[in-house]
Amino acid sequence: MTQVLIVEDLSETRRWLGEIVTAAFPDCTLHEATSQSSGLAQSARRVYDLALIDLGLPDGSGLEVLRKLRLSQPDTICVVTTVMGDDASIVGALSAGAHGYLLKEQPRDLLVVQLKQVAAGIPALSPSVARRIMQHFQRTGPAAPEDNLTAREREVLGMIGRGLRNAEVAQALLLSENTIAGYIKDIYRKLGISSRAEASWHAARLGLGTPDQT
Ligand code: CA
Repeated sequence: MTQVLIVEDLSETRRWLGEIVTAAFPDCTLHEATSQSSGLAQSARRVYDLALIDLGLPDGSGLEVLRKLRLSQPDTICVVTTVMGDDASIVGALSAGAHGYLLKEQPRDLLVVQLKQVAAGIPALSPSVARRIMQHFQRTGPAAPEDNLTAREREVLGMIGRGLRNAEVAQALLLSENTIAGYIKDIYRKLGISSRAEASWHAARLGLGTPDQT
């Protein structure tokens, strides 16, 4: 990390971040921007190895600077350094391509470690931010494996979700119970599940649980 851009409007915070960057990368050269417009201008002026970007800038959001850097300098490591730990800010920054999201309230030593890590390819996330992301995935469940399900498998899954037994599903679809058991086996394998309860959960999540949708 030799060329480092710090986008931060508060001079005291800028100096503090500069010290942290210098502690992590003693040979680096610091460049500073104090607003969105100067951040955008600096982004066009030279190539950076690392950019620390504040979100709350007096003339707009640091997200614009982040977006511009990600587009024009894809190799630049961009880390958001902010006081804003809300979901919208985190999602906005990560979807704009941030390599890290660090809260400025963190202890200095931890920030130094995390900057060194991000230079080595390890995402830099404040513990509370990492926890929020983990909670999000705990709430939303596994990533969409249902894309692999065939129309017939979705149909069977919907019926199981409504509590139908294999024989009832077989009767409704004019198929044999063996065939239905085969479908269920395939559904379980594709969803990585092993019980009716889990099947019902997936059926509900996919909107397959109500009669008018199957
Ligand atoms: Ca600010």
